[in-house]
Amino acid sequence: MSIPIARHIRDIPRSGIRDFFEIVQSMEDVISLGIGEPDFATPWHIREAAIYALEKGRTGYTSNLGLPRLRRSITAYIDRHFGISYDPLSEVLVSVGVSEAIDIALRALLDPGDEVLYHEPCYVSYAPSITMAHGVPVAVGTRAENGFSLLAEDVEKAVTPRTRALMLNFPTNPTGATMTEEELARIAEVCTRHNLVVLTDEIYSELTYEGARHASIAALPGMKERTVFLHGLSKAFAMTGWRIGFACAPQPLVEAMMKIHQYSILCAPIMGQDAAIEALERGEPSVAAMRREYEMRRNFIVAALNDMGLPCRLPKGSFYVFPRIDSTGLASRDFSLRLLQEKKVAVVPGPAFGPGGEGHVRCSFATALPQIKIAMERMADFVESLRR
Ligand code: PLP
Repeated sequence: MSIPIARHIRDIPRSGIRDFFEIVQSMEDVISLGIGEPDFATPWHIREAAIYALEKGRTGYTSNLGLPRLRRSITAYIDRHFGISYDPLSEVLVSVGVSEAIDIALRALLDPGDEVLYHEPCYVSYAPSITMAHGVPVAVGTRAENGFSLLAEDVEKAVTPRTRALMLNFPTNPTGATMTEEELARIAEVCTRHNLVVLTDEIYSELTYEGARHASIAALPGMKERTVFLHGLSKAFAMTGWRIGFACAPQPLVEAMMKIHQYSILCAPIMGQDAAIEALERGEPSVAAMRREYEMRRNFIVAALNDMGLPCRLPKGSFYVFPRIDSTGLASRDFSLRLLQEKKVAVVPGPAFGPGGEGHVRCSFATALPQIKIAMERMADFVESLRR
């Protein structure tokens, strides 16, 4: 018997990152600048809080929405950092990473055929998540010459009568793009005029450099009512494996998301939730220390890439750089494959993040500086060999 696979799932391509990293895993001594995951272990005080909770036998289910104490920590944290106030009882849902929050927000919002706009190049999961929720993904291109920020006029041009929502991710994976409050206000005006819901994935919001203040669209006047604020602990707190994220949104949407979450997931794991309370209440000095280290690495890697003739912007946020490699005469995938085979350095081809990524590769600096230094030496040799 041939197993029937739902058409909308069958037609989704596998992630370009995954294919590439299967090759990386089959090789030895590779320096990987490919993974979007902090090289730091979760700070000890956070691990310790989780160990104590386990010792006390905290091993059961929690409320579907998440531990009330964690929801209060989340709303206090968002108030402190973003200046937005949410009700911990009715406007917050704790999810299994931001990944689950994105999925259930889209499933709760979309009717089949509804269009969702997102800026591209972008995180690999957005278009498939929209498709899996029976929506239609519509990419709005961003350009290197604008620092990959999203222009309100480009959003406006993509709106149709079927457009239901706009997804944002600043700082952006893979470009490191950030947006000023004024730029976000122009986007907010378009969304309000066309009655769009905004989903804003703020997962890199703590990782902005040179003291730059992160602005969230949810904090702009009149926007909280139409925004789903998505955040989690994976990146800034180095907690990818704990799988804790959260969504803050108007109560009727949280209620709808809760139904999906309740029947498909039940609740996020209690160990991760206990660790998240410690992280949000006392983890800020640890985040600041990691951010200082990322900033140093960023400065080094950007200078090294520009020195070898691969033009690279200084990203204001995230832990990614997105240099241009087209001057080498190679397409992104060939560049990445040959760099891997000839020099054992893994970077991600730009088109893994959408067609607008052609001519670029993504390098993550969530890797220790000595490793980054060796990777840059090998990459400089490789680029030089191409130019000879
Ligand atoms: N959103 C963006 C933009 C990401 O880059 C990632 C991971 O790389 C995620 C969400 C996934 O986050 P989580 O670990 O909270 O599911």
